Amino acid sequence: MKNWLTLEPDRVKLMNKHYTKGRGGNKVECVVVHHNAGVLSIDQIWQVWQTRAASAHYQVQSDGVIGQLVWDRDTAWHAANQYTNQRSIGIEVSNSAGPNAGWPITDTAIREAGRLIAAVCLYYGLGRPVSGDNVRYHREFTSTTCPYHLAPGGKYNAALIGEAQRFYDELKAKKNGTTTGRHAKKTPAGGSSVMLTAKYFTDFIKGFFGPQIDALQDVWTQLRGPSGGGWPQLGKNKAGQNLTLVDAVAALRHDVADLTRKIDNLGGK
Ligand SMILES: [Zn+2]
Repeated sequence: MKNWLTLEPDRVKLMNKHYTKGRGGNKVECVVVHHNAGVLSIDQIWQVWQTRAASAHYQVQSDGVIGQLVWDRDTAWHAANQYTNQRSIGIEVSNSAGPNAGWPITDTAIREAGRLIAAVCLYYGLGRPVSGDNVRYHREFTSTTCPYHLAPGGKYNAALIGEAQRFYDELKAKKNGTTTGRHAKKTPAGGSSVMLTAKYFTDFIKGFFGPQIDALQDVWTQLRGPSGGGWPQLGKNKAGQNLTLVDAVAALRHDVADLTRKIDNLGGK
């Protein structure tokens, strides 16, 4: 980064699609960590996202160079659900080799990603980075293994969160014009454990079921008609109300049963 305190990236290569302007009035509440599942430069991930409806705010290359692809003020499409996307900064970290090598990441990329997490937390007043609180992982929000080794339990998680916390303290001291050392406030270590908060679960449920809840509403409307008032094209019941799809199916079943009985009777004779 050119400037950690102002979040000025090394490079800016903005997406021209596959993101949403603004954040729908929401504030940044956390970062969401990803790995590329690929060995990609800033230009290459930009190219990938031209053909896939996806994006993130930052790409951390294996050499530690950080690119901005979506402005922080806009919504990147990285967490698979709008609720989380509108409230987070998406950080992608390149791998340095493929699946046969186990998706490794360079120490440099882990360090710079950790520092970026710290800088984002400081800039948006999110507090010291805490895994599972203001530092979240793609796999929390959808069915994916991403960010794999960077996630809790993964071999890089402790290094990532450790550097994020160390650098946060350093950067905060710099911002406040003090030095780390005897004046630095001691904060507890061990941030790699996931802190389970009520918010964690709320976000998880909303993130996981958000799209499905919308889909259920659609299904309900299809079954019951707009506002549950039935569909005029299905006919009316004896009270003169529009039939719902459920009513119509029930009526059809009745008709079919009648018909079957008549056919059975004919056959019996
Ligand atoms: Zn991801």
